[in-house]
Amino acid sequence: MRDSLVSKFDTQVFMFWSAYLLLSLQGKADMPRHNDLEHKALQLIASQSEQGVLQCEMWRELGATSREGSRIAIKLDKKGFVRRERELHNERWTYRLYPTRQPVSINSIIDCPCLMCSDAFRCGAWSMISPNKCERLTEWILGLAHKEMNPSGEG
Ligand code: SF4
Repeated sequence: MRDSLVSKFDTQVFMFWSAYLLLSLQGKADMPRHNDLEHKALQLIASQSEQGVLQCEMWRELGATSREGSRIAIKLDKKGFVRRERELHNERWTYRLYPTRQPVSINSIIDCPCLMCSDAFRCGAWSMISPNKCERLTEWILGLAHKEMNPSGEG
C-alpha cells in the first residue's frame, strides 16, 4: 500500500515538473520572438514617419502572420508608441500605423547652449549656476517649442 502511494506521488511529481518545464521552455521560446517582432515592427514604423505603414504590408515584411501582426499593433498602440488609423486598401479594411515618437537624433540637440557653455562644469541643479535659472537654456527650449507648434516657420 505504502509503495503504491509513493509510486503514485512520484508519478504526479514527475508529471508536474514535466509540465512546468515544458511551459517554461515554451514561454522562453515565445518571448524573445514576440519582443523581437515588436521591436522590429516599431523600427519599421519609425522609419516611415509621416507616410506611415500599412499593417498588412508590415507583417509581410516582418514575416509574421496577420494575427500575430494585429496583436502586436494593438499592443504598440496601447503602449502609446504608434497611432492606428483605419484605411481601405484593395477593398479591405486595414490600419495605417504612424509612430507617435521619433527616435532622438544628435541633430535635435546640436544647437543646445549647454554643449558649448563655459559654465557647464559648474552648472548643476543645486549650484549657483543652474539650468533651472539659465536664460540661454530657457530660450533654446522655448525656441524648440515654438518650432514644434509652427513647423512651417510662420509667426
Ligand atoms: S544650463 Fe545654462 S549655464 Fe548650465 S550648462 Fe546649460 S547653458 Fe550653461
